[in-house]
Amino acid sequence: MYNQKMIKLGEERSDIRELFEYATARKKIVGKENVFDFSLGNPGVPAPQCVREELERLLRETPSVALHGYSSAAGLPEVRASVSDYIRTRFGAEMRPELVYMTCGASASLTIILNAILNEGDEVVVLAPFFPEYRVFVERAGGKLVVAPTDEKFHLDAEKLRPYLGERTKAVLLNSPNNPSGAVYSEEEIKSLAALLKEKSEERGEPILLLSDEPYRELTYGAKVPYVMNFYDDSVVLYSFSKSLSLAGERIGYIAVSPKCEGAETLFSAVCGAGRALDYVCAPVLFQRAVAKCLGKSSDVGEYKQNRDILYHALTEYGYECIVPEGAFYLFVKALEPEAKQFCARAKKHELLLVPSDSFGVSGYVRISYCVERSVIERSLPAFKALIEEYRK
Ligand code: PLP
Repeated sequence: MYNQKMIKLGEERSDIRELFEYATARKKIVGKENVFDFSLGNPGVPAPQCVREELERLLRETPSVALHGYSSAAGLPEVRASVSDYIRTRFGAEMRPELVYMTCGASASLTIILNAILNEGDEVVVLAPFFPEYRVFVERAGGKLVVAPTDEKFHLDAEKLRPYLGERTKAVLLNSPNNPSGAVYSEEEIKSLAALLKEKSEERGEPILLLSDEPYRELTYGAKVPYVMNFYDDSVVLYSFSKSLSLAGERIGYIAVSPKCEGAETLFSAVCGAGRALDYVCAPVLFQRAVAKCLGKSSDVGEYKQNRDILYHALTEYGYECIVPEGAFYLFVKALEPEAKQFCARAKKHELLLVPSDSFGVSGYVRISYCVERSVIERSLPAFKALIEEYRK
């Protein structure tokens, strides 16, 4: 009677959401302090001061309609201009305000761009491990998700990707810093990808787009995140302030189409059309104004780094295997048995809530979100130790 695909999607829930709901229920039973919830990537470090200051100033000085009314679908012209200026000055890339579209976060940026570019059956190539919602977003836009492998450190290897680019490839979707591996793809890696995409686009006589999903751009521990537009013409950046400014619940981000894209204006029209078709009336106006004054700022990355260091050092000392995350706030740890789901079930008995890697497109790992309060990490360490000891018995 109703849409079967939607019913299935609603009932399935993601592994991550499922675990988060379990954590909420479990805390009521055994006490908040006894559950180690590493499920969601919900930023625990407060938004930087500039956000609060700007919100307070806006509320004091701006008429209500200019804060809470509609804006143009693509966003306030002055905000689009600020984003465009920022991209030009910070990254040295070409940009124009008319090619910036303000959105309700990265999820909206992804949904809109995918609906803008995909025809039924077109393929979008992602690198494993990848954010599980990519599958939902691509399939709902009528596309097919194609999963390509990375190297042993979860880094981009263009030659490993090559066989996955075919006749129907419309775009390659990258996410660096990566959720869940923490890998930050280097300039060399981006350059070799750009060369491959250029070669394949020429062969096909049609550009393959490079979509860069960048909610973690500012959250790195020393690694530099190359700006894709500087290396490949047919690029679109999908940005979100959810993680960088700890504004995940406010739903604010943008799409920036490179002016060097073939038919950039037409692509932008398709973005506007998809926004309209998907009912994205406009991004929240109060937050459009606030983020325009906080571009390039971020929450205290030092806090995440300390969390990362405590967890990484303790876990590797106990005997767990993992790669040091270069960015984002996730630790990707090898499960202690081949089936990650079974390992997570055993971890749950120690009140450790970890996400199995299967929905990220690789098997045998778990994701630990370390954007939590420091005390949760510290209190969880004996449980991680007990868990590995249990496997050694
Ligand atoms: N892309 C990646 C890689 C993510 O990790 C997330 C959220 O965790 C999103 C997109 C969605 O972010 P947003 O809250 O901005 O919609």
